[in-house]
Amino acid sequence: MSRDLKTNCLIIKKVNFRDTSLIIDVLTPEYGVIKVMAKGVRKSNKVIGILELLNELEMELYKNPSSDWYIFKSAQLINANLFNIKLHTSILMQAAIEIIRQIIITVDDSKAVYELLTQYLQYIKTVPKNGIVIFWRFMLKLCKIIGIELNVYNCIECSHNNKFVAYFPQKHGFICDICYMPVYDEQVIRINDIEADLIRKLPNIGQFINEISIPKSIFKHINKIFVIHLSEHFNKNMHLKSVELL
Ligand SMILES: [Zn+2]
Repeated sequence: MSRDLKTNCLIIKKVNFRDTSLIIDVLTPEYGVIKVMAKGVRKSNKVIGILELLNELEMELYKNPSSDWYIFKSAQLINANLFNIKLHTSILMQAAIEIIRQIIITVDDSKAVYELLTQYLQYIKTVPKNGIVIFWRFMLKLCKIIGIELNVYNCIECSHNNKFVAYFPQKHGFICDICYMPVYDEQVIRINDIEADLIRKLPNIGQFINEISIPKSIFKHINKIFVIHLSEHFNKNMHLKSVELL
């Protein structure tokens, strides 16, 4: 790899470093998530202005072959995603990057994840209500890309298209009313009929988005299922705090 490189990227985290510098985590289509040291940028209003969270940029970087760090050289703004949007839209955007920050994205998957995230950020701006279901659809697609698809059609035990009654963390999927046994109660998250119906509609949720209404209890419950699905896979406790503000 050459020492100088140019890449599109999305800023998913930024932290001040010393008096004038910034450490930014960016998602790229080619290298997954990389850490960029932006030295002295807080002295320049022009540069710091475009290094905002969720901005999509074309960035010029220098890579020191003997270190994991990338050094910031310059950037051009492609898209300022958090500019001029409503609070709930901003929360749904932050939820997506909250998840991206916690998972490991391989170089092989990074292009697909990058495209998914940029499309989600564009689309979520146009959704007037029930944006959370678009976030859940984003989560389904993300799980599929990183190799932990959550099957919303078939029971994890019998593979039939029966009604779901619970999510089974150790089996990484939903279990149907035929396969469910009371002895599982301690290990599963029970779901009600409304939740089961909603989960099955998620891949095509665009068609239903204006006719559904989602109570707060369901909201929390389905978020929890996604967080547990990811936590089981990555073998660590993950969180989704941003959506609690909705
Ligand atoms: Zn079954």
